Amino acid sequence: MLEIKGLRVSLEGKNGTVEILRDINLKLEDHKLYVLTGPNGGGKSTLAKAIMGIYPAASGEVLLNGRDISSHSITERALAGIGYAFQQPPRFKGLTVGKMLEIASGKDRTCNDCNFLYKVGLCPQDYIAREVDTSLSGGEVKRIEIATLLARDLKVAIYDEPEAGIDLWSFSRLIETFNDLHEQYDTTIILISHQERIINLADEIILVADGVIKHKGTKDEIWPLIMQDSACSCRTGCDERVVENA
Ligand code: ADP
Ligand code: MG
Repeated sequence: MLEIKGLRVSLEGKNGTVEILRDINLKLEDHKLYVLTGPNGGGKSTLAKAIMGIYPAASGEVLLNGRDISSHSITERALAGIGYAFQQPPRFKGLTVGKMLEIASGKDRTCNDCNFLYKVGLCPQDYIAREVDTSLSGGEVKRIEIATLLARDLKVAIYDEPEAGIDLWSFSRLIETFNDLHEQYDTTIILISHQERIINLADEIILVADGVIKHKGTKDEIWPLIMQDSACSCRTGCDERVVENA
């Protein structure tokens, strides 16, 4: 279980320190799949990075299975079983896809590494020897990073907008993979996404906006709230257009 208590995160902006996350409280259970959703800039990636230890907490606690890991480094949290796939993954010139998977799984390369690539819709024979550099497209790097997380034995796996830059066919494969992962392992899965097909996988949806948790609940409970918000801004636009065209 991952527990977050009274978490606040402040970051340095151009005009000084800005409080990005304000008093986040969450309990995320083993073997559950959560979708974090909400408007751009609401604080979803910041929350993921605070869980991973990339951003320090101004106050509050992060507990993994009851153990306070708030003061732990990124490496310590990774070793404790937390993994984060970035919204915009970094590239590693000189490092091959095969080597990256080998490092992630902590084992010499085996055929399992091939399976992780298949699971994200990539043909291993085309990728295993390639470098994770700028010769790969954004969607390819994204899928390779997801594969490296799949290769790890994680307690908490966070995937930040896994659908970004990914074609429809690979996206379908990815949905199957997340579904299998959810069914087969005890990992707490957190998917940051706006995609309805990903939202459909969730046991619970967490709506993050303005640096706070606005709502947490099942799709039936949260979906009408999401639709209500989008319908509201859409209606304004439509009305204006009607007036203009009148
Ligand atoms: P989301 O993932 O929900 O789109 P983010 O967590 O990326 O939102 O960002 C939340 C807010 O924090 C935004 O206003 C963003 O501009 C700001 N922010 C994110 N990272 C930084 C940073 N490193 N320094 C300053 N502000 C940041
Ligand atoms: Mg984000």
